[in-house]
Amino acid sequence: MSQRSQQPLEGAAAPAATFEQRLNERRRNTEWKKDPRRIEPAECIGCDSCMRACPPQFSAIYNQGLDVVIVPELCNGCAKCVQACPVDCIYPDAEWQPTQESLWAYVEGQVNFRDQ
Ligand code: SF4
Ligand code: SF4
Repeated sequence: MSQRSQQPLEGAAAPAATFEQRLNERRRNTEWKKDPRRIEPAECIGCDSCMRACPPQFSAIYNQGLDVVIVPELCNGCAKCVQACPVDCIYPDAEWQPTQESLWAYVEGQVNFRDQ
């Protein structure tokens, strides 16, 4: 398990318990014990089943160009997507990296559109 997923950011009081907090603060819930998941693009067939399976309170899966990607800061590792994937290409990611700003901006746009 990654150190990042266990340790709160310096000065961060709350664990980012809500989706809105995680999105606004761009960080994972520090109380989540499981590593986030990642999609292997070389194996993914782009069926979007995982997106439909990801619980709304996490909403961690998005289209990025031709790829389907998981935002690790939003993923609590529940594995609902794994159960839905027909080709078994979603893996635990202990070495996850912070999400790039361009993807965060896309996620914000999707959330704003969804909430309209
Ligand atoms: S592990 Fe759970 S929270 Fe993470 S992307 Fe899959 S369904 Fe969503
Ligand atoms: S369910 Fe699997 S194959 Fe389908 S888009 Fe998600 S990761 Fe790719």
